[in-house]
Amino acid sequence: MMNLDLDIFSPLQQVKLPLFTEYGVEVFIKRDDMIHPLISGNKWRKLKYLLRRAQAEKKHHLVTFGGAYSNHLLATAAAAAKFGFKATGFVRGEEVENDTLFLCRLHGMQLIFTDRESYRDKNALFDRHFANDKDAIFIDEGGASPEAALGCSELVDELPFTFNHLFCACGTGTTAAGIINGLQKHKLDTEFHAIAALKGAEFLRADIDKYLDNPAPYHLHTQYHFGGYAKTTPELIEFVKLFTSQTGIMIEPVYTGKMIYALFDMIRQAKFTPGSRILAIHSGGLMGILGMKNKF
Ligand SMILES: *Cc1c(COP(=O)(O)O)cnc(C)c1O
Repeated sequence: MMNLDLDIFSPLQQVKLPLFTEYGVEVFIKRDDMIHPLISGNKWRKLKYLLRRAQAEKKHHLVTFGGAYSNHLLATAAAAAKFGFKATGFVRGEEVENDTLFLCRLHGMQLIFTDRESYRDKNALFDRHFANDKDAIFIDEGGASPEAALGCSELVDELPFTFNHLFCACGTGTTAAGIINGLQKHKLDTEFHAIAALKGAEFLRADIDKYLDNPAPYHLHTQYHFGGYAKTTPELIEFVKLFTSQTGIMIEPVYTGKMIYALFDMIRQAKFTPGSRILAIHSGGLMGILGMKNKF
């Protein structure tokens, strides 16, 4: 049987910048991006219990879904290679080639390009190809599942002290829900800020609430999308460059750039009382920047 060694290294790092001193706040980053270069950040946490379940069910073939730039597809490919699974990824849309898919293939993932119509019904796709494959396990797009929320909740177990505010980038909302569950479990009154990476994201509230163990308050900020999912502006690109060059902590424009931008914006608007301790989750996904090289 495979040995699933899922121990991780994700240090807490304080970032010191003149802006933070000026407004009297302390800012820390939870370096989930350091968990693994490709199975990075929240994708590792989201896969953890899905891999455990695959192992328990003696299934050796991970089957999952994503867009052509999906961090989840890449994380699944790399996790499969690391832990001795086979992997198949259904890719939404016509056949293309890019850096993400190259890295998926490099790690041995088989890619099946799927038109947008068929892609909508993922269970049907799985059944059509793998109904008779007893070895195959269905993993939803982005890893979305109760197991994923559970994995993300464990981030809170690792925090050495309490924060007044916690910032997290948000796509499907599973990571946010998991972390909110973790805060509740530890009875912390940390204010949680979900920064939506996509436009018109009010619907995310329902998606987050779906995975909450108990109803809980949180802030959902929907105005930092910069045009929509995987969209960007020169201002965001400049911000990503500046933050990366001033801290040595790389961020990218799809998720973490928007989240850190939001944090800076709210600090400048004096939203946090002096003395506040703020934690930003670096959810990884750094390879996503490769699809945006031409914007820099
Ligand atoms: C996938 C991803 C997210 C979004 O996570 P959800 O659980 O879908 O909200 C955030 N940040 C990074 C870097 C990601 O790759």
